[in-house]
Amino acid sequence: MASGKTAVGRELARRLGWQLFDTGIMYRAATWQAQRRGVHLDEHESVAELIRKSRFQLRPPAEADSVELEVYVDGENATPHLRNPEVESGVPTVAAIAGVRALMVQIQQNQAAQGCMIVVGRDIGTVVLPDAPVKIFLDASAEVRAQRRAKERNQDADRASVLAATNRRDELDQRRAASPLVAAQDAVELDTSDLSLEQAIEQAVQIIRARLPAPVSVGSGEA
Ligand code: C5P
Repeated sequence: MASGKTAVGRELARRLGWQLFDTGIMYRAATWQAQRRGVHLDEHESVAELIRKSRFQLRPPAEADSVELEVYVDGENATPHLRNPEVESGVPTVAAIAGVRALMVQIQQNQAAQGCMIVVGRDIGTVVLPDAPVKIFLDASAEVRAQRRAKERNQDADRASVLAATNRRDELDQRRAASPLVAAQDAVELDTSDLSLEQAIEQAVQIIRARLPAPVSVGSGEA
């Protein structure tokens, strides 16, 4: 886990029997679409125009043991391409384009209206779903996030560059004018720097149990 949002969200979705909608995939898919269609990412209006004309669909996971929604663009599954280095480096630029965000937020709101789900992303509690019944703001120090990302990618030789890339993305995300990264006022903040993944999940489960209006059965996550 990095700040842990995807890993924690995935496990919470499993325990609740819900689906996980990790909204980062939408901005990644938009970036992939612009790159494969040859639109320069700095041409914001052209990118927004392309995204407006493209068809984004969210579908249940293809694999039986996955809980994560997948994104299709113009009928093609974008999922295998979303962690490409070009997408990684281009995504903060595309995510900062207001016209792109407006479209993505609309799709996310429509999707979330389909039923109970764990929705993960930087602006969910503030912009996309301000009335969500439970909001958790996960955070971790930049150093810890870089360590976790390097470990995930088995790149122990490359800690410094992962840290630099992490800081760059976080900084771009925080500084941008459209939906900068901030916690919703009514979110519960959970700092995972000193927590194992299991401890972070346990704490998130406690928060959900305490906050959800109706009793929700939260399984142990054991097989
Ligand atoms: O979470 P993930 O690393 O997949 O997100 C990729 C990028 O998408 C982030 O760096 C950010 O620029 C953008 N993003 C966003 N709002 C979201 C989710 C992701 O701006 N709700």
